[in-house]
Amino acid sequence: MLIDSHCHLNYPGVAEDVPGVLARARAAGVGGFLGISTRRNEWDAVIAQADAEPDIWATVGIHPHEADLHPDTDTAILDDASCHARVIGIGETGLDYYYEKSDRDRQKASFAAHITAARATGLPLIVHTRDAEADTLALLQAPGDGVLKGVIHCFTASQAFAEQALALGFYISISGIVTFKNARDLQASAATIPADRLLVETDSPFLAPVPMRGRPCEPAFVAHTARFLATLRGETIESLAASTTANFFTLFGKARP
Ligand SMILES: [Zn+2]
Ligand SMILES: [Zn+2]
Repeated sequence: MLIDSHCHLNYPGVAEDVPGVLARARAAGVGGFLGISTRRNEWDAVIAQADAEPDIWATVGIHPHEADLHPDTDTAILDDASCHARVIGIGETGLDYYYEKSDRDRQKASFAAHITAARATGLPLIVHTRDAEADTLALLQAPGDGVLKGVIHCFTASQAFAEQALALGFYISISGIVTFKNARDLQASAATIPADRLLVETDSPFLAPVPMRGRPCEPAFVAHTARFLATLRGETIESLAASTTANFFTLFGKARP
């Protein structure tokens, strides 16, 4: 069994036929889905999807792209929303200086509020980071009350960043990008991630892996990413599936199958 640790089942490309998407994923051996929130007005819908299916869970958070549109997202709002039984993580949050769709200071303030909420609730943080390694690490490394745990999702950062994130106790989630021909640096890093810190994801409907490129990505395709990753790491698909699934339930302790 595999778990898709990061998908957006409410986005166009998969939202049109969620029952079909789920059926194809389950047939491909995907036994769990973490539905990720990116803005406030979708929290209810993402939680409702998790409420309706025993193998879907939800997160609450504001994507760094959306930080400008959510100037008043504070820790209390996140704390409150995360009390729901099916909400098992805080995010996605983080910093994106590549697209820079929101002001950098607003992104940092939003990220800091999410970090405080993750510390306060004990829920894992789902971190999105692009072209912002130093600032991402500085915020994650800043002292605070409560234990901070989480995952660097859709990992594409440097090997040095991976090592620092692992040193903080974070998990690293690999998406379909690892299957792309030009992803040599990522492939090299992905081969070195300890087996007890690795997760897999699709980020559906984005980033379909080889050989599905060009289509809307759906959670069934995590099987292609997992197979590629297992070969890259010199392990069997069975062992990679077992470890990544166990890691998911270790990190997201609130999840109940
Ligand atoms: Zn992301
Ligand atoms: Zn995402």
